[in-house]
Amino acid sequence: MRENKKKIIIVGGGIAGLSAGIYGQLAGYETAVYEKNPLAGGQCMGWNRKGCHIDNCIHWLTGTKKGTSLRKVWETVGALEENTQFVECDSFYTSIVGDTRVTLWKDLKRTEMELLRLSPEDETEIRKFAAHVRYAAECEMPAEKPMDAMGIGDYIRMGASMADMPKVMKEYGSMDMQDMAGRFRHPVLKALFTDYLPKEYTANSFLVSYASIVSGNGEIPLGGSLAMANRMVKRFQQLGGKLYCGAPVSRILIRDKKAVGIETADKETILADYVISAVDAMEMFDRLIGRKYMDAKWRSCYEDSDKYPLFSGVQAAFMVERQAYDEKGTIFFDCTPFETGGRKADRMSVKSYEYEPGFAPSGKTVLQVNIAQFDQEYLYWKELSKDEYETRKQETVKAIEERLLIQFPNLRGHMEFLDCWTPVTYDRYCNAYHGAYMSFVTKKGVKPFRVKGTVKGVKNLYIASQWIMAPGGLPVAVTAGKFAVWRIARKDKCEKKF
Ligand SMILES: Cc1cc2nc3c(=O)[nH]c(=O)nc-3n(C[C@H](O)[C@H](O)[C@H](O)COP(=O)(O)OP(=O)(O)OC[C@H]3O[C@@H](n4cnc5c(N)ncnc54)[C@H](O)[C@@H]3O)c2cc1C
Repeated sequence: MRENKKKIIIVGGGIAGLSAGIYGQLAGYETAVYEKNPLAGGQCMGWNRKGCHIDNCIHWLTGTKKGTSLRKVWETVGALEENTQFVECDSFYTSIVGDTRVTLWKDLKRTEMELLRLSPEDETEIRKFAAHVRYAAECEMPAEKPMDAMGIGDYIRMGASMADMPKVMKEYGSMDMQDMAGRFRHPVLKALFTDYLPKEYTANSFLVSYASIVSGNGEIPLGGSLAMANRMVKRFQQLGGKLYCGAPVSRILIRDKKAVGIETADKETILADYVISAVDAMEMFDRLIGRKYMDAKWRSCYEDSDKYPLFSGVQAAFMVERQAYDEKGTIFFDCTPFETGGRKADRMSVKSYEYEPGFAPSGKTVLQVNIAQFDQEYLYWKELSKDEYETRKQETVKAIEERLLIQFPNLRGHMEFLDCWTPVTYDRYCNAYHGAYMSFVTKKGVKPFRVKGTVKGVKNLYIASQWIMAPGGLPVAVTAGKFAVWRIARKDKCEKKF
């Protein structure tokens, strides 16, 4: 233990910021996290309404498989403890068109059989899909050290452990979800492959996502998003880290091309040896350090939302009687078209939280609907007056309710509205640029966005955020926190291993 510990200030207490704090403490630094909201967790959040709990985030957590290096990271930061249990869930999701339904089961063989039964004429594509999901199950995210710091030995090891992944890239790497859906003849299979992720997403990311469910590497920890964030807070504080909530930061102080501390919104100056920005990247550039520090790579993405779209969602939650809803998991279905955020929706998804009995009073469960929105829709919501915003939200809730009742008539009289939120909610709550809750979408033919997590022209400032690597998400956030500290520790020639 050093006598005079160096100090790291971390701006933002989401998963990336908490991870940076935990790894900072483990590496022997004195760390303090400043979070604008009353609670840490950022987008990995949940809140209560009318005796129910609404879970904002985890649909699947990549890195739950024991023995993987990402699992080790989740354990180190306390997100997964020895006694953490996982939800009993046997499917990824179900797509319904008319009276026909098809499910991507956790059991891949069952999926394959179901798809073949439904559409024998698509046999070649179905078998190819299943084989490549098996290959993709080997795909492991590097979590030991940043990729740019990996040596030839690291690449050889990584290559050996993911021997079949190139096959996935060869077959699906140059197509998006729409192209993939186009390979199938049956309309329900076409819907299945465009329902879950925005249709612009590259098909290989979808295969990797489904493969993580199939291989047990993408489970949902029981208790959900807020409980997981709280476990990380506990771990951080047990290690001696200081967490300041309700503490918005207005500036990162840069003197002589070096980050030297922060200024809080109430004008307090706090100095440190290092600053880690764990907020949304645009919040950092725009408000905390100034856009003059944004280099061409970032700029080219922000300025071209066709090439690098961002997505968010309009969501609504309902409490329903369990006896009136006998479905499980996430279901997509056709609905009469309606508009929300200026965008037409003709399919809807509904996710049931029946697997979390603690999320609703006895005999009830929570249903959540999510309708995709992009940059344009964020601007639509953002430009509305307060009254118009409320009116449009109410119209959206009414439209959703009507369509749920058409699809699931038994819900009539057994459903109560809990809450509705939009891309603007993510902006207000987390300062999320355009309400985006993931990083830039990787479209086909476009190089996936990835940066080191340093800022050109500013020493001692590091970025820990899902934004440093597309597509973002919790694994990128947690490793970004670790990697920011890894860079600081390497600079300081710190010998602690973590
Ligand atoms: C509906 C939904 C579903 C999702 N599903 C999944 C999923 O199934 N799997 C998955 O891997 N990921 C999922 N995600 C994405 C995941 O939530 C994010 O990738 C992750 O939480 C981002 O973490 P972060 O720490 O990088 O950013 P954030 O969570 O945005 O944290 C940034 C923090 O900084 C704070 N902050 C901002 N500005 C300031 C300031 N000026 N001063 C102080 N504090 C500030 C914010 O309040 C916030 O707490 C989902 C997200 C949503 C919204």
